[in-house]
Amino acid sequence: MSNNIKVAIDGPTSAGKSTIAKLLAEKLKINYVDTGSMYRALTLKVLNNNIDPKAEEDVVALAEKTKIDYFENHIFLDGLCVDDKIRNERIDKNVSYVCQYRDVRKRLVSLQREIASKSSVIMDGRDIGTVVLKDADYKFFLTASADVRAKRRYKEYLEKGLEVNFDDIKKDLIRRDDYDSHREVDPLVKASDAIEVNTDDKNIEETVELMLSYINGDK
Ligand code: C5P
Repeated sequence: MSNNIKVAIDGPTSAGKSTIAKLLAEKLKINYVDTGSMYRALTLKVLNNNIDPKAEEDVVALAEKTKIDYFENHIFLDGLCVDDKIRNERIDKNVSYVCQYRDVRKRLVSLQREIASKSSVIMDGRDIGTVVLKDADYKFFLTASADVRAKRRYKEYLEKGLEVNFDDIKKDLIRRDDYDSHREVDPLVKASDAIEVNTDDKNIEETVELMLSYINGDK
């Protein structure tokens, strides 16, 4: 394995990308970057400023005066940590509008590449293997059925004490994936050289072990 490795993990909503990426990063002793949190942080600012997420010019203008940083597994919006403000249904419902604009993506993709240029990294998102780290050393595309994914998200929100409805969560994740897959700029799509891993019948440990075996060359 080279000294500076790049691992790209893409896939639909709640396929387990971030949990798995974090564990893999720990095992490989490299940094993890959650790119979804960057789009979520910008969405938080858009909503807090009463800007319509569907108003491209307004969203882009706001993005231009917004500072987003990702550091040691924490997301910062204009210098403030917003980890506990970006994972809820209000953000879920709006993030796919905010992240669809070319100029928004340009800014965040360039930030993601800058972070990746500094050290070995595992990055998860929707366009990592196809756009952000096109020449990543390892690319994975994690999938799972909509039911399994909705159950995971539902459990996560319940554990956080949020009031949630399973059917609403499932509907929203299907809508979001559809939107992400059909947008014009950097849509969610499996890179032709990515390894697809279906996690329906695998627990987290099994998935991590499988991915590690590809990275270590045992597969
Ligand atoms: O991964 P997560 O669900 O937190 O991402 C939130 C949203 O951000 C996704 O639904 C997708 O619309 C968007 N996203 C993106 N490109 C990325 C990461 C996330 O468009 N690289």
